[in-house]
Amino acid sequence: MSEPLFFKGAFKEKLWGGKKLNEFFDYPIPSEKTGELWAISAHDNGPSTVINGPYKGKTLKDLWDEHKELFDYAEGAVFPLLTKILDAQTDLSVQVHPDDSYGMAHEGELGKTECWYVIDAEDGAEIVYGHHAQSKKELEDLIETGQWDKLLRKKMVKPGDFFYVPSGTIHAIGGGIMILETQQSSDTTYRVYDYDRVQDNGEKRELHIEDSIAVTTVPHIDPELELQTIRKADSTETTLVTNSFFTVKEWNIEGKASFHKDAPYTLVSVLGGQGQLIIENTIFNCAKGDHFILPSSVETWTFEGTLHMIASHPGK
Ligand code: ZN
Repeated sequence: MSEPLFFKGAFKEKLWGGKKLNEFFDYPIPSEKTGELWAISAHDNGPSTVINGPYKGKTLKDLWDEHKELFDYAEGAVFPLLTKILDAQTDLSVQVHPDDSYGMAHEGELGKTECWYVIDAEDGAEIVYGHHAQSKKELEDLIETGQWDKLLRKKMVKPGDFFYVPSGTIHAIGGGIMILETQQSSDTTYRVYDYDRVQDNGEKRELHIEDSIAVTTVPHIDPELELQTIRKADSTETTLVTNSFFTVKEWNIEGKASFHKDAPYTLVSVLGGQGQLIIENTIFNCAKGDHFILPSSVETWTFEGTLHMIASHPGK
């Protein structure tokens, strides 16, 4: 039988975290400083576990290693994607990620290209997205002399906004923002600036200035997003981004809508509403806060209800 794989994720407590993951999604967060849910993850630092069906109790990493058929025998030593939800009660550090070649050479893991769908944002909330330096020299100077206002490019955000953050982009999620992040499965972050904050132990967090300067793209260029929307009677499907790393789509269902697979497997996160996922006449309830994978055996499926979802798959 073809059935979805529903997951239980791993929570991460963070200096900048809050309690919106509980308030918004009713998740059982470990503390009032919960910053992240690694919702669909095969990364060793926070693997997700299947909670239904014959693979119940297995991690996504187990399935990737032992049940390649679920992923249409996709190539690669590691499951390529990672879906997270982040609640930034206060500003995250300003950071940048390497590309695959720098990541493999210096950290032994892939680089990180990511993208953000803004779930919730307080009035006036801002992100750091890119920088104003025109040369590596200027980037170095502005970092070394701490001229952050001059260097960092800020943007106000609102719920429903979407940002593509290729490796090499200086970025930070600001306080009051909750996002769903789809990224390459990597945990390599170079911290550029941490607002001179001091942790509970009295120490500042480590910065990685040399690596940051080496991997930052100069000058910053905003990637062009060509959003494409397919409207049907009871649904809309908007492609938010599609590139060699991932394709991310937003699905809105208001009634009943059927889909045919266009990738070996598909990751789905339900951000709002509730309804049913119907596969070969079998009904699976799904609701806000659920995360699942439609494995390769699921050729077609139907959603019924009111559902707001983000779906992704590797590559174009
Ligand atoms: Zn990042």
